[in-house]
Amino acid sequence: MCLAQRPLVYIVSTETRQFIPAGAVIRFAAMKISARAQSLTESATLSVARKARELKAAGVDIVDLSVGEPNFPSPEVAVSAATEALAKGFTRYTGNAGIPDLREALASDYRQRHGSFWTTDQVIVTVGAKMALFQLAQALFEEGDEAVVPSPYWVSLPEQVRLAGAEPVIVTTRAEDGFSIRAGALLEAVTNRTRAILLNSPCNPSGGMIDAAELEILVRACADRGLVLIADETYERFVYGGRATVSAAAFATEFPETVVVVGSFSKTYAMTGWRLGYALGPQRLIAALAKIQSHATSNPTSFAMVGALAALRQGEAQWLERLKEFEARRDFFLPWLNRLPGIECAAPAGAFYAFPNVTGCYGDGRGDSTAVAEWFLEGARVAVVPGIAFGYEGHVRMSFAAAREDLQEVYSRLQVLLSGA
Ligand code: PMP
Ligand code: GLU
Repeated sequence: MCLAQRPLVYIVSTETRQFIPAGAVIRFAAMKISARAQSLTESATLSVARKARELKAAGVDIVDLSVGEPNFPSPEVAVSAATEALAKGFTRYTGNAGIPDLREALASDYRQRHGSFWTTDQVIVTVGAKMALFQLAQALFEEGDEAVVPSPYWVSLPEQVRLAGAEPVIVTTRAEDGFSIRAGALLEAVTNRTRAILLNSPCNPSGGMIDAAELEILVRACADRGLVLIADETYERFVYGGRATVSAAAFATEFPETVVVVGSFSKTYAMTGWRLGYALGPQRLIAALAKIQSHATSNPTSFAMVGALAALRQGEAQWLERLKEFEARRDFFLPWLNRLPGIECAAPAGAFYAFPNVTGCYGDGRGDSTAVAEWFLEGARVAVVPGIAFGYEGHVRMSFAAAREDLQEVYSRLQVLLSGA
């Protein structure tokens, strides 16, 4: 219909809930949404963050500890390199697995830090670590396969396994044990259908880690059984208390068909919105990911990759102060959290989340983590994510990647709410 013919009066269709011209006849047959999509729930971390944003936009004074993102600006070198690339017209499609310089720089970074001998064609740059993990599930799993996933788990891991037609097999880690990830428990869950173990250390949301000896046992056992160890090391740089970082990359040379490492620019360099992550692994697998990527996103954003390369080349020395700030925030926030009635929280070994037990906040109609999160939101205007989203009841997740003033404000608000309860 051309502009001149547009009617002046529109009504809302009862079937489609869209505006339609008054008097128009619409042909309506409900569109079928796939069972696959219907079985999914929106990422809980993103949906709580969305609700918090909506409330803020409506003028409600919310302190948001829901989504996990550093409150720092991205590194200046990244911003200026990306801006310059954009201005110079680096705005076309690039090689589908990412720009060669960035792939080479990642291979060399892992070689230097972990002694792994991955070459450029064993690295793919992806639209966030999320897409690397998604593509890995698509490349590795078939209908009926299983993948072992420790819980609490990051919300997207089991859903990505399911979207690939496989079944996540959940192995619980325990708060009493600092949510440590142990090889024995994961291996006990392996069956003849298992294709992979999805290790996320340090873990979002618990902060739990696997130690070097356990990791070695796990890698060797995976190699013996023909399993892939997918190591999601998004929080590799966020390790506290002088504890050494352990990366599965250190085993890649000895076990080239077993180890796959996923990393992200999001947290390390405060570049969440740039959407850049990567995977390193055997060349055949990386080629399969590149094929999937060629049909899914093509390449990651051209000029964003130039920015990420600048951040990586600058090295970590400039950035170390920022990373240290997370430990300071942990040490600042955790003692306060434990002073709140009904809340109990061990200091996380890594990542940047507190995952307190909140069963002490049950009562008065509240009997699960969702009810507690809602109570915090309504009663204190503090946004947190219920533990059930991570497959773990009785806890909520609070990101301490937020500004110190926000953490202080959360303490004051919860103090009022919980003391009055
Ligand atoms: N893995 C874990 C454990 C995460 O918490 C996240 C969310 N940041 C991702 C992967 C994905 O990160 P991104 O897509 O932002 O690189
Ligand atoms: N990974 C972050 C979180 O857990 C960002 C949101 C998401 O991608 O799920 O909050």
